[in-house]
Amino acid sequence: MNNIQSVRGMHDILPVDTPIWRWLDEQLAAIFDAYGFAQLRIPILEKAEVFTRAIGQATDVVEKEMYAFEDRNGDLLSLRPEGTAGVVRAAIQHGLLQTPGLKVWYQGPMFRHERPQRGRQRQFHQFGAEVFGLAEPQADVEMIALGERIWRVLGLSQRIRLEINTLGDPDDRRRYRAQLIEFLEPHAARLDADSQRRLHSNPLRIFDSKNPETRQIMADAPGLEDVLAEPARAHFQSVCTMLDHLGIRYRINPGLVRGLDYYSRTVFEWITEDLGAQGTVCAGGRYDGLVEIQGGKPTPGIGFALGAERLIELLRASGTERRRDPQVYLVHQTEPEQALRLAENLRDALPALRLECSLAGGSFKAQFKRADRSGAELALILGPDEIASGRCQIKDLRGERAQESVLVAELPARLARLVPELASV
Ligand code: ATP
Ligand code: MG
Repeated sequence: MNNIQSVRGMHDILPVDTPIWRWLDEQLAAIFDAYGFAQLRIPILEKAEVFTRAIGQATDVVEKEMYAFEDRNGDLLSLRPEGTAGVVRAAIQHGLLQTPGLKVWYQGPMFRHERPQRGRQRQFHQFGAEVFGLAEPQADVEMIALGERIWRVLGLSQRIRLEINTLGDPDDRRRYRAQLIEFLEPHAARLDADSQRRLHSNPLRIFDSKNPETRQIMADAPGLEDVLAEPARAHFQSVCTMLDHLGIRYRINPGLVRGLDYYSRTVFEWITEDLGAQGTVCAGGRYDGLVEIQGGKPTPGIGFALGAERLIELLRASGTERRRDPQVYLVHQTEPEQALRLAENLRDALPALRLECSLAGGSFKAQFKRADRSGAELALILGPDEIASGRCQIKDLRGERAQESVLVAELPARLARLVPELASV
């Protein structure tokens, strides 16, 4: 029989790769903490309506990419294609929006049935942050500053740049929509099929098209900035002024509209040139109408989501590697329970120690081979002589330090000094 393979576009993250994922988790959690965000964990499955209402019918995500299916009860469910709609659903359901200024972050797998290629998978992972109840432009600016801090902490500032735009308020978009349709109608025959279909249902989405001819047409489209009424114009102006004040560099891109219908006013993308065609690492914006669409009281909101796979590819490209090998490997020629007991005692004494105990037995030579492969810096050697004298040998597997014999009672203190990561705590 053939081996069963994973689903196309859905990848295992193998043991050699998980250390960098865990490191990223830790870095991002610490940054979210630093801004007062609390983590929210929501289900991966939602009623499909959560997404169709929020994201909009005439979008790629809802029309083509959602994994939606009927479960055994006949309920229409969907694997989440993104995080915001579910966060809003949860925030309304649990009354979290009653305190203004709610800040939450989330993390986890998202699912979209798109064509797998570099930077595009069917299961991928996002980290996201959302702020509710704050209409002020400083909330937009803090979201952007948070993004910039992430790149700085990860050592990627030089590789990622910011583009921003404003989508105005609903009335601005209504006026703009009419202008856009008028501009596009004479070109309709040359638009790609999706865009032709969306010409009257959702013309703004045509900016998202990847079709070269459509993009060429859109390059001459009128900009939304010409129809902006004062409130959204002033809001965008303050965002830009504050970004200048914080020294955060950006480019205003009038064609930046984002692929989901719920956005209003500020939208932004963090982009790199180092990943080929799929260069957007993080994207977000304001969504002041979304809570109401989802059945809550009108509440402004703003958020972003970053793509973990793209970020990790970028980290690798910039030479960041992380490992979590054992620091110490215990080889022994004793009764197995004696080695196991020493290992347990050391783990009791040094909770941060990563210690692997040889379990498969064999000659010292065979065990040292395994110790070497484990990546450990140090080997502990326990033989009959050591047992008899209550001692243990420490051997440096990588450097030149002479082998030493240590009383078992003094071993934790000695290891705490020899293993750099333990010494620093
Ligand atoms: P794209 O234009 O690349 O399709 P999008 O507008 O659909 O992006 P969002 O819904 O804004 O993307 O998702 C935010 C981020 O999640 C993206 O910037 C990207 O980093 C990541 N992302 C989105 N879809 C995928 C995917 N299929 N595979 C891997 N990462 C993805
Ligand atoms: Mg997409």
